[in-house]
Order: sequence, then structure tokens, then C-alpha cells
Amino acid sequence: MTDDLLPADAELLRESLLVAERSRAEGKHPFGAVVTDAAGTIVASFGNNSLPPEGDPTQHAEMRAVAAAFRALGAEGMAGSTLYTSAEPCAMCSGAVYWTGIDRVVYALSERRLLELTGDHPENPTFSLPCREVFARGQREIAVSGPHLEDEAAQAHLGFWN
Ligand SMILES: [Zn+2]
Repeated sequence: MTDDLLPADAELLRESLLVAERSRAEGKHPFGAVVTDAAGTIVASFGNNSLPPEGDPTQHAEMRAVAAAFRALGAEGMAGSTLYTSAEPCAMCSGAVYWTGIDRVVYALSERRLLELTGDHPENPTFSLPCREVFARGQREIAVSGPHLEDEAAQAHLGFWN
């Protein structure tokens, strides 16, 4: 299932891992996401903000990043955009990827690997629904690459959920 990770993608995927580490350092869940435009320039970079009081459960890193990218680029500017994310987008975020016009998703941890790391945690009841299955039901194609760098991506989660 694993496909090749291009060097340019590896650099940007590692950037999302840094954002995840930063998110954890701020006391938030260790997830990070960045969006690039067609030229490969980062237009949005966000960590998770799902915990109250300042956050809410819809504020996954990917949700924040794709929404900000759409507001920055507009519908036409989303052509050629890519979401790089430290973990596979959940069903909610995959829906947002679809609706905001993201063209491509590159992710690190699979939902399955994430579930192994979090266990059955009340703050992160992971969906067992691969993003490819969500995208397959849409009316436009979204390219997906991942999982990649899973051992690196797991670092931000070690000791966090237990
Ligand atoms: Zn999500």
C-alpha cells in the first residue's frame, strides 16, 4: 500500500510533524497539518485545537489548515493544492478536504497506526475509515499518498495518550 515519498513531499510532511510536536508542547493534541498551493508554497499551517476552553472537537489540524487555505486562495486557487498531515485525515477532515477543493493528500501515520498509539482514548476515538474510502465516494478525484515516515510521526505521540 505504501507508495514512494518524493523528496519535496518528505520535506513538507516533516514540516507537519514539526507542527505536531509544537502542538504537543503547547499542551494540545500532537497533530499538525500544512497546505501548499500549486507552486508548493505553504499557505496554511496549523496544529490541533480540539480541547476546551479555547478549542472544540471540530478543530482538528487538517480542518483548520484546509479552511484557512481556502480562505487565503479562494476556490480557483485551490487547484493543485496539497494537504500534508501528520496523521491520516479522519472522516470529518476528509469531508473538509473534499469540500475545500484540496487536490492531493500526503499523510504520515495511518488511522490504524494512530489507533495503536492512542489506544481506546476518550479524547481520540479514532474512526476506522481510511480517507481513500471517503474520497472514493466523491465526484472528483483526490490523490492520496501515505502512510509515510510512520516511525518519525509516532514520536510526537509516545507517552502522550497513556
Ligand atoms: Zn480529523
